[in-house]
Amino acid sequence: MYKTILVPIDLSEDNMSRLVIPHVEHFAKQEDAHIHFLAVLPPLSSFYGMGSLPVGHYPSETDRLRHAEAGLRQVAASFNLPDDRVDCHVAIGAPRDRILEQAQSIAADLIIVASHRPDITTYLLGSTAASVVRHATSAVLVIR
Ligand code: ADP
Repeated sequence: MYKTILVPIDLSEDNMSRLVIPHVEHFAKQEDAHIHFLAVLPPLSSFYGMGSLPVGHYPSETDRLRHAEAGLRQVAASFNLPDDRVDCHVAIGAPRDRILEQAQSIAADLIIVASHRPDITTYLLGSTAASVVRHATSAVLVIR
């Protein structure tokens, strides 16, 4: 039933990623599913508001994406999944937009997200998770 599963990963939040591991492994095993991990990086300009960047040296987008992909592969390796059923994707932009786009482009039939950062107890649903639940065209599994 769930053959193509998108698992968005916030690379700055190891604990949140760890939360989804047993669930992703369960579906991968039960359904022999293909797991697509996706990490979304903020655009460099978002660190400086809407204005132009101050003068200085910044890593290129290519470098940032390459670095993020290495990080994502490391996270993916902490899941017990067969290599040939795993793909890692990286993108730059607003997490919710990139996640929804990626879900469309791989025709995901399930998206698995953590509800929010474990240390933020006031939110029932983080803003990214909430947008994904609201706008996704596939099923969404929210892990608490
Ligand atoms: P919070 O607002 O508490 O940080 P979020 O809604 O951002 O909670 O995070 C919930 C889930 O959304 C994460 O477990 C992850 O699946 C996804 N997510 C959040 N940020 C990103 C990101 N930058 N890249 C990929 N996925 C993300």
